[in-house]
Amino acid sequence: MTDAKTSAETRLLHLDRLNGAEHGAVHAPVHVSVPYGHPTCESLLGVFQGKKVGFTYARQTNPTNAALERKISMLEGAIDTVGFATGMAAITAMLFALLRAGDHIVVSRHIFGNTTSLLGSFTRFGVEVDYVDMTAAENVAAALRPDTKLVFVETIANPGTEVADLEAIGALCRERRVLYVVDNSLTTPAMIQPAKLGAGLVVSSLTKGFGGHGEAMGGALSDTGLFDWSAYPGIDPLYQTGDPAKWGLAQVRRKGLRDGGGTLRPDDAHKLAVGAETLFLRVERSSATALALASWLEARPEIKSVRYPGLSSHPQHERAKQLFGGNFGQLFSFSFLDEIDFASRLDRLKLIVLATHLWDSRTLAIPVAPTIYYEMGAEGRKAAGIDEGLVRISVGLERAEDLIADFEQAFVRA
Ligand SMILES: *Cc1c(COP(=O)(O)O)cnc(C)c1O
Repeated sequence: MTDAKTSAETRLLHLDRLNGAEHGAVHAPVHVSVPYGHPTCESLLGVFQGKKVGFTYARQTNPTNAALERKISMLEGAIDTVGFATGMAAITAMLFALLRAGDHIVVSRHIFGNTTSLLGSFTRFGVEVDYVDMTAAENVAAALRPDTKLVFVETIANPGTEVADLEAIGALCRERRVLYVVDNSLTTPAMIQPAKLGAGLVVSSLTKGFGGHGEAMGGALSDTGLFDWSAYPGIDPLYQTGDPAKWGLAQVRRKGLRDGGGTLRPDDAHKLAVGAETLFLRVERSSATALALASWLEARPEIKSVRYPGLSSHPQHERAKQLFGGNFGQLFSFSFLDEIDFASRLDRLKLIVLATHLWDSRTLAIPVAPTIYYEMGAEGRKAAGIDEGLVRISVGLERAEDLIADFEQAFVRA
């Protein structure tokens, strides 16, 4: 029924069924078993030694997670995917499995705050991190060293919505044979497949757009098969067997997930898989609503500036148009005029929720400097391009006119 010409959107809806879910079921079942029994020692040993595909102990994966991982691989155009309890667990496991003291990495200056904080801990263990402005690939070229292990970037940065020069950085990494890691959480494979830009690994917080409903957490790391791991120092000889394209993720699965223990719960894997069934619809709807809201706010007298890649005023608008297939995502941010205290307006919102999260079904607002970027300090925020009065909006699935009416009453009554 499905072949190479069938769209990813359609294939996603039929993948469990066509992979043989029992009794004609259209969803993979939720497997709660911790141990997995084997009929013979040969089978048990084969799975333990990585010579046979199968299950042993639920920390390492289970059939429900495997069904989700298969869907993510299909959507990302990846050869394999490992699921994790959260996006941060995925990033931690990747860095933990692939880096050692003395390694050098190049990271975007515009990056998720908790990732910056995590990298600070890796610095403590002797990893050298250079932060550069990745909206221009030249900055990455200037920071690369012969011993650089990886380049890490996000597609659309949170909260400033900077769009990195993803394609040129991909070409550069390919030429220099450096591992290119792209965090696709805020765009999802419905907007962009980093594999097409040369990414070797794709990180995703499934908690965000992929699952989309704000009731389950998860993370994933996908290997696109583009990176030649035989050129990467630090892969244990134990995992240097078979196709070199698979060595890196084999090490992440063992050293990162098995030893780190950040396992995705099978009931959450199931919720995320159901959430993903409407991914493409949600991306279109939220992107259209975000554009309507951002345009409306940009014309308001109390607003100093609005940052949304869908606006022609955005510095990387043309790049975003070319990269993301006409959708610009559900995240935007804005600043009130300096004389307006954000709380005097935001406290009056009735529909829009004051909360931190992205890609929830409901629209959320948060002033970012005194909350999620509080620990960074004023100097760190300045370096990361985060204004003290910046308000981040995560657009949900409500109708645009209802959200505009909520902003309007909050602004007018003030
Ligand atoms: C939220 C987020 C993460 C972390 O994901 P969790 O599932 O919350 O752990 C990582 N990267 C980006 C870009 C994010 O937005």
